[in-house]
Amino acid sequence: MYAIHKLNIGIIGGGQLGKMILAESNRMSLNTSVLDSNENSPCKNLTNNFFIGDLKNYNDVLEFGKKCDIITFEIEHINVDALTQLQKSGKKVYPKPETLSIIQDKSKQKKFYNENNLPTSEFKFFRNINELNKQINDRKIDFPCVWKKTKFGYDGFGVKILKSKSDILDLPDCEMIIEEFVPFKKELAVIVARNLNGDIKTFETVEMEFNSDSNQVEFVISPARISNELKDKAKEIAIETTKKIDNIGLLAVEMFLTKNDEILINEVAPRPHNSGHFSIEACPTSQFEQHLRSILNLPLGKTYNKNFAVMLNLVGDYGFNGNVFYENLESSFSEVDTHIHIYGKEKTRHNRKMGHITIICDKFEDAYRKATYLKNKIKVKTL
Ligand code: ADP
Repeated sequence: MYAIHKLNIGIIGGGQLGKMILAESNRMSLNTSVLDSNENSPCKNLTNNFFIGDLKNYNDVLEFGKKCDIITFEIEHINVDALTQLQKSGKKVYPKPETLSIIQDKSKQKKFYNENNLPTSEFKFFRNINELNKQINDRKIDFPCVWKKTKFGYDGFGVKILKSKSDILDLPDCEMIIEEFVPFKKELAVIVARNLNGDIKTFETVEMEFNSDSNQVEFVISPARISNELKDKAKEIAIETTKKIDNIGLLAVEMFLTKNDEILINEVAPRPHNSGHFSIEACPTSQFEQHLRSILNLPLGKTYNKNFAVMLNLVGDYGFNGNVFYENLESSFSEVDTHIHIYGKEKTRHNRKMGHITIICDKFEDAYRKATYLKNKIKVKTL
């Protein structure tokens, strides 16, 4: 083992996920550097060295990485060529650039699942809208189906459910995939950590409840309200995916539980994930500490749930754009068992992730009731 305090850990991206990694690294007084394009990013005052740069720019990422011993990231849309170059020059980059290059492209990602016998829905790749039009006219596409931009989508932007032919009229002309529509009962997620020694641990299988208007995650429920058999099956698929992709660090595996109790992978993210925030208060080791343990090749911590947890996302309310104000936040501090996280972003906009609250209770119903109450009470508006 090497002396972890001598290392400079570089984190690409200075948003809320970076901030929560820093909460753990600062607890252990580890030395960190952060790169972000925004001089007021949530990580700015929490790291030893804060650098401003464009995460998609080769030179910015390369120059940042050269100053670090080990490099990780909290966002996927970053320059992978620079990471590959850093890896070639002997830097440790975890998760590996090869993993990131599969994940950055939804078509490559789906191909990867097929080639490795990992369960996922059927899909077709199209280079442009004309190719898609042609197949629709030839009746080779069944509706409903799901359109996805292959690159740079996030939080449901870049995804559209197509109910009929006319729904393609406002699609952008870009590389895309069309997926078979999965009529799912629930959306599940499992976070898997793996270190260089090959030790693997998963967190509890969670279920994600989506807001029907925005199609964004509103509540994360841990553990998921499904049978132990299904929870274990989801973990097995997530572990298998981690091994096949040879991931080092965290891998968040999002899955669909179908009406026939089949589990299909939707997509994966090689980083800490919204579906794992509950672990900060609910588990002996948080996903953020586990990420650091995995990339530093340390023994992995325990991941069981001490209690039931419901995490609710605080996102920007519709119609508010500008300097943020959290309406009724103060009153929620009087609720017991609630843990409030505010990310420190200056500006809000519709559906922007601004914070989250985790409620921990002995009984699931109590946690869910409180989460619903707070969801309706706290509003993310402008000053
Ligand atoms: P993003 O990468 O932007 O998070 P996802 O691929 O996770 O996008 O899709 C966003 C949401 O769209 C999913 O959480 C799910 O609710 C829905 N969705 C995605 N793919 C399918 C599918 N094949 N069938 C049914 N619903 C889907």
